[in-house]
Order: sequence, then C-alpha cells, then structure tokens
Amino acid sequence: MTPPVTPPIYQNFIHGRYLANQSGERFDVINPATDDVIYQVEVADHAIQKAAIESAKAGFEIWSAMTAIERSRILLKAVELLRARNDELARIEVLDTGKPWQEAECVDVQTGADVIEYFAGLAPAQVGQQQMVGDDFYYTRKEPLGICAGIGAWNYPLQIACWKAGPALAAGNVLLFKPSEETPLGALKLAEIFIEAGVPEGVFNVVQGAAEVGQWLTAHPDIEKVSFTGEVGTGKKVMASAANTLKDVTMELGGKSPLLVFDDANVTEAVSAAMLGNFYTQGEVCTNCTRVFVQRGVYDKFIEELKTRTEQNIVAGDPLDPNVNLGALISKVHQQLVLDYINLGIKEGAKLLTGGEALSPASAPNGYFVAPTVFVDCQDDMTIVKEEIFGPVMSILVFDEEAEVIKRANNTHLGLAAGVFTQDIQRAHRVIHKLQAGICWINAYGNSPAEMPVGGYKHSGIGRENGIETLDHYTQTKSVYVGMNNIDSPF
Ligand code: NAD
Repeated sequence: MTPPVTPPIYQNFIHGRYLANQSGERFDVINPATDDVIYQVEVADHAIQKAAIESAKAGFEIWSAMTAIERSRILLKAVELLRARNDELARIEVLDTGKPWQEAECVDVQTGADVIEYFAGLAPAQVGQQQMVGDDFYYTRKEPLGICAGIGAWNYPLQIACWKAGPALAAGNVLLFKPSEETPLGALKLAEIFIEAGVPEGVFNVVQGAAEVGQWLTAHPDIEKVSFTGEVGTGKKVMASAANTLKDVTMELGGKSPLLVFDDANVTEAVSAAMLGNFYTQGEVCTNCTRVFVQRGVYDKFIEELKTRTEQNIVAGDPLDPNVNLGALISKVHQQLVLDYINLGIKEGAKLLTGGEALSPASAPNGYFVAPTVFVDCQDDMTIVKEEIFGPVMSILVFDEEAEVIKRANNTHLGLAAGVFTQDIQRAHRVIHKLQAGICWINAYGNSPAEMPVGGYKHSGIGRENGIETLDHYTQTKSVYVGMNNIDSPF
C-alpha cells in the first residue's frame, strides 16, 4: 500500500521570503480537473499582516528613490525570467484553474510578461509639465501613490497579478497582492521572480486568504489604492470599504457583453468569435459575449455552423493534454451554479441547441466540466440573458433592425465589452460608437494587447488596466509653484 501523499504547504511571501504565520490556519487548493487537494496555503494572520505593511513601507523607501530607468531595467529582467519559465508557470495555472494547457502555454504567462514589459518601457518616459506664469513658473511631478493593494480573481491568476504589478511597480509604488484563494500559487512564483530579478524586498508582497484578508487590505489606512478584479457585488463592497480611508480604486468587474452579427457578416468568422467569446477558458472570461444577437437574414446559417462546430471541434478532458480545448470549471460549487443557470434557462423557455449538461471525460472523470452550451429562442428578460454565468453558456437572440439591436444590447447595467460583425465599415463604427461598453471589437473578439486600455462602463468597472493612461492611475501629480520676485503682500 502506498502511503498517503501529504500535500505541500505554501506560506505568505513577505519581504523577499516565505514567512510562516502564527495562527497555523491554512486552506486547501483543489485541482478542478481531478478534485484532488494539490497543496495547502497558510492564511495571512495578524502577524503576517503586520509584517507585510512594515515590509511594504521599507520597500517603498528604496524603490521610489530609484530612477525610473533603474526600475525599468529590473522589471525587464523579471520579464525575461517570466518568459524563460513559461512552461513551469503555465503548468501551475493549468493545475490551479483547470484551463487547457494549449491556452496557458501561449497566453497566461506571455500576456502577463507583455504588460510588465510595456510599463517598464513607459516608466522612464513619464514627464511632468512646466509653465511660465509671468516671471514665476510652476512645474509638476508625477509621484507614486505609495503602498497599493491588488486583489485578484481566479480565472487568470498570474496574468492578473502581472497586470496590476506592471503599472504599480513601474510608477514607483509597492504592491501588496492577494490572489484568489482558489488559485494562490502563480502570484507566489511571480514574487520569487521579482526578487530574483533584483526588485527590492517589500516591493511585491503576497498575502493569502479569502474575503477577510481582502477586507483587511481595503480598510488599511496605510494603503493608498486598491486595484480589484472580481465580481460586481464584491467590487461594490471593496469600494465602500476603500471609501472610509479615501483610497483610489480601480475596478475590473463582470460583464454580460453583446456580440452583434449583421446579415452581411462573414458567418464563419462571426461563429469563431462567438465560440471564442463563450468557450475559451471554459467560459470563465469577464469579457465574454454571452448575448449573441444575430440578424434574422443570417440566423439559420449562423446557428447551423455554430452547432456543427461546437459539437465537432470541442475536446473536453485532462487540461494538461495539449489536444484538449475545454477545461474544467474552477470548483464543484461553481459547476453547480452554472448547471443551475442552465436549468433555469430551460425552465424560462429557452431552447437548448447543444450541450446543457455536466461532462465526465474519460481522461478527467472527476473534473468539474460543463458541456459547451448554446441556447436559442432566448428573450431579453430571461435570467440567463441578464446575469453573468461565467461558464460555457451562450444565449442567441434574433434581431431585425440596427436601432433595435443597439437599444437591446445596451439594456443592461453592465458594460464591459461588445463586438460587431459586419462588412459595412460605416455601420461597424456607427454601431460600436453607440454601444455602452469599455472594450469593443469590430470583426474580432477577445484580443487584449498590453497597449490597449481595458475596463468597463456602468457597473462593470472604474478606471482602466493596460495602455498609457493606466500609469497615471498609479501616480499623483504634485504642482510646485516657484516665485521669482519678492512676495507682494498687504501684511
Ligand atoms: P470574487 O469577487 O468572488 O473574488 C475576487 C477576489 O476578491 C478574491 O481574491 C476574493 O478573495 C476577494 N474578496 C472576496 N470578498 C471580498 C471582500 N469583501 N473584500 C475584499 N476582497 C474580497 O470574484 P471571482 O469569483 O474570483 O472572479 C470572477 C469574477 O471576476 C467574474 O465576475 C468576472 O467577470 C470578474 N473578472 C473581471 C475581470 C475584468 O478585468 N473586468 C477579469 C477577470 C474576472
């Protein structure tokens, strides 16, 4: 009989090293494709929290005093290490999230590294302004905020950590990062890489735990900003808590994004976009186009191709198998939530075109899989059309007129993303300009390069990640007035 294998235990990463907590409290991390506990993580207790803040303060002294070129050089070294360790890191992401290797291998680490590289390049180019006002003048300095907090979701754990660390560190801040308790390892590996690259101790600390640790961060008086990625409901709580100490916030929240397919669209391309925007990362992508509006003239053709390709081209199974393109959902609880939504869709009168059930693939029989699911005959007021499901569930809606579909697409309190497929260049821009969403695609879906700002309208978010403007969200402007004459005083 083989003895039971004790899962490894990871500690919090504070001031350049792993630090044991005092409470002894830990949580399990489960591989969603196998249902096995793969490791345990120590919760950031009071001792860790205290050490994290002291370390961050010390780190800020050193990091913010460096020139931007020095910081940039160190961050670029970290980028090199991230790329060199792509496969090791991608494997961690697959085991933690259940997503397919074929995605993680070319997306998760790469897009994280890209963003750090982008902001490392921008950091030395940040300039203030100077202006004469008579003989006097003023100038402005872009100064870092200080200690920032990052709180991450579980769908792109390492990428989210990089997307927050990149601009924060480039601008001279330090970051206390709390990954999702479902996927805590990637951020620890990033912390190791930063230290190896030469980032000073305390500049990137990782604290582990669930909501309580997040709440501690959002309430802490020494933290100047919170950048949050997660659900709308949690985002509201984070913002409310941050308001007590007037923290700056960036909110990257959920969506229920529309894809508009007009009669003149290239149908094959539009089907590709709809499938990517609903089944990539088994549907756990915030920008997903879960409301697909198809114009009546092209409806039958679209549905036929969508059904055929969904039934023939999707391979669910062990996510480490490079041929698998549909992984497991993050947890058993989430799998059930997605299945509950599917049952509700059926109950409310939508018709299943394909899918609709849990899957138990031979290569990963205990995983939390849900079949790629497409509903037709959907109505705008159905629950599955209104609420974010965060699984592989697509709702198809029919439309006739341009004005009608714009109105229906905008009829939601969410506004993260939107897409339009048409060959008519004027219509493409006219329609996209009217859609209330922060991230829009024309004849494309899902691409998110480091250069492009991303973030939501309405309840989908506040502020932006990536793109030049994000660096400003991690700095504050100091104006310095310089008097060149004697003071003209009545006293
Ligand atoms: P979640 O809101 O449940 O959790 C996100 C993080 O917040 C976790 O680290 C969690 O521990 C922490 N948290 C929970 N309660 C907290 C509290 N009261 N105070 C502080 N922190 C708290 O989200 P999730 O389930 O991990 O992620 C899925 C959601 O994230 C989806 O809604 C998805 O759309 C969204 N998302 C958005 C983007 C984007 O860029 N807009 C990207 C990825 C995911």
